[in-house]
Amino acid sequence: MIPIAKPLMGEEEKQAVLEVLDSGVIAQGPRVKAFEEAFAGMCGVSHAVATSSGTTALTVALLAHHIGPGDEVITSSFTFIASANSILYVGARPVFVDIDPVTFNLDPALVQDAITPRTKAIMPVHLFGLSADMHPLLELAEKHGLVVIEDACQSHGATYHGRRVGSFGTGAFSLYPTKNITSGEGGMITTSDPAVAERARVLRQHGMRRRYYHDELGYNFRMTDIHAAIGLAQIGKLERFNAQRRANAAFLDRHLQGVVVPLAPPGCTHVYHQYTIRVPDGRRDALLAHLTERGVGSGVYYPVPVHQQTFYTQELGYDIALPETERAAGEVLSLPIHPALTPADLETIASTVNTFTGQVHA
Ligand SMILES: *Cc1c(COP(=O)(O)O)cnc(C)c1O
Repeated sequence: MIPIAKPLMGEEEKQAVLEVLDSGVIAQGPRVKAFEEAFAGMCGVSHAVATSSGTTALTVALLAHHIGPGDEVITSSFTFIASANSILYVGARPVFVDIDPVTFNLDPALVQDAITPRTKAIMPVHLFGLSADMHPLLELAEKHGLVVIEDACQSHGATYHGRRVGSFGTGAFSLYPTKNITSGEGGMITTSDPAVAERARVLRQHGMRRRYYHDELGYNFRMTDIHAAIGLAQIGKLERFNAQRRANAAFLDRHLQGVVVPLAPPGCTHVYHQYTIRVPDGRRDALLAHLTERGVGSGVYYPVPVHQQTFYTQELGYDIALPETERAAGEVLSLPIHPALTPADLETIASTVNTFTGQVHA
């Protein structure tokens, strides 16, 4: 089976973990600090704050901006559930806006229509490794005094008009094993606002500014030095990993037939966390089965948009229509694109897709 995702762990990662175990400093310590500095450098921001996951990074980012009960946060429904759940955790309400069918990201024109007096933030999701359309979103945020929290959990190193994602507002990244780089589990908040960074550090550590003095409700959302050591080894490989993902995507772009391949708008560097095609005419699930039978892994991200998840409809009463989001959920299929693919794997992926589309077209 050619897997849909594969974490690439080498000698550096193994050695780095052993060094931490020998050092005696296991919990948040010097490796976390070094990883934060490397991550901030990669994004082109002045501060990065490590957390225990992408979900806790999003949650702390919202809390650091004082977003809470009574506030609305505009985001995408075509995403992993954690984007919206983090908004619920802080007591705010996710307001879902439809996507641009080409990029799968928030449609800025629709964001404008969703702004109310309660709107406090916009949370664009840079889905599949492609930046959301930031210029119009930043303009709206500026005009209405809104915070921008970027869910960059799938887009380490992606750029938009020369700038890295995570540098436009407050960024939140995931370091889960399937992401472009991993620390095992982990997350990272990025910002160039020193007050936001300081508050995020305090919230991550039980609201503690001075040892055992707790001025507000905080959490244990820390990263360990073991995880940071893995992350440090991985961040040194990010540019190489992303270049390989892009080369793999270029191959599939050239060779796939009969499906809609992903597009990167001008000015965007796509880092292909997923290589997501559209299979129209209700044939997506048949292609998935065809690939599985022939040993090619693939995945549907995401089959059910957040606004249609049971908890959101039954418990929270969401009853809205998002036509492009719903159409995407029925048509998307992600193919293996990770840097461990061989040229033979790529040939197999392309030819297996093409035998299916050739068959149904014939
Ligand atoms: C992975 C992911 C998250 C959550 O990250 P975890 O590290 O799994 O908590 C949030 N948003 C998106 C878009 C993701 O892909």
